[in-house]
Amino acid sequence: MTTNIIKYQTNTTKSMTNIEHDEEFNERKYKRDYYDFELIGNGISGYSNIYERIDEIKRCTGIDNLEMVRPIVEKNSKNMKLKIKVKEYSDYKTLTKEWPLDSFKTGIKIKKSYPNLKVIVLDVQRNFKANQDNIEIKALQDNYGLYNIRRIHNHKNQPCNKITAKCKKISDFIDVIKDGVFIGSKKYRVIPHTVNYRVCSKCGSLKHQQKDCFKAQYCLKCSGTGHHIDNCNSFFDKCINCLGPHKCFSDKCKEFAQKKIFINRFVLKILIGEKFISSASDILQVGNDSKEDQTSESSDTSKLNDLIESIFSDKINNL
Ligand SMILES: [Zn+2]
Ligand SMILES: [Zn+2]
Ligand SMILES: [Zn+2]
Repeated sequence: MTTNIIKYQTNTTKSMTNIEHDEEFNERKYKRDYYDFELIGNGISGYSNIYERIDEIKRCTGIDNLEMVRPIVEKNSKNMKLKIKVKEYSDYKTLTKEWPLDSFKTGIKIKKSYPNLKVIVLDVQRNFKANQDNIEIKALQDNYGLYNIRRIHNHKNQPCNKITAKCKKISDFIDVIKDGVFIGSKKYRVIPHTVNYRVCSKCGSLKHQQKDCFKAQYCLKCSGTGHHIDNCNSFFDKCINCLGPHKCFSDKCKEFAQKKIFINRFVLKILIGEKFISSASDILQVGNDSKEDQTSESSDTSKLNDLIESIFSDKINNL
């Protein structure tokens, strides 16, 4: 019996190492723009300025090329924690390992951040409750590394037959897209979530949104001034950003397409790297003239995701 336990433990340790190895492989293959984490400890507030904090981090870990060290005071406890950002994965690895017991005098805890990856589970019955009390939700969290699991609602706030979830690891993201997920005894298809970009609804800019806009109202169809797109009488489209013969939020616009690729670059890098798609245009309709729409729907129910659904349904987790 002892032999069995030892054998079991050895196997467990081995597979744990493999998981860590896979994750490190994925993190290095699909680099994030930056890596961040939180440093939590009672002693932190005793370090009153940025230089003292940076010095202490360097003393404890040897790392000094930090992109950001931002103190955050927690509302209830008034405790101070530090949000730290670094550019390199290797620095992140070092910084999120064990720290000396006397770090920031009383010791610290690390709260790592997850990569920004989201998926959509398709065809989930509308009466399925996506909340913490549901054991099926717990199973999705435990078995697939998913969290923040939520029902998608349409613009009338009615439940859709889809739920979204964030992924704790890159490998979780890849695995659920490849294989789908089980809820109970039924398997469900999973597709990647991408963000649909919106131009500034006031001036059509790709650089800001309406709440930050100081420009005059431009027509998003003809780029004329003095009227809204809803009242546009022009027979012609003219793009505000590239001056081409299309609306400024059209997929025909190279600048708009580039912006969409840019904001989805991390997920696209993984989808291409894992050969789910061969290029961004497979799912983002870059330079295509089939879609020209800036509706008021939420991004979760956007046509972009409908498109991804149709493409991915053909390509992957055929059940
Ligand atoms: Zn604007
Ligand atoms: Zn117009
Ligand atoms: Zn354009």
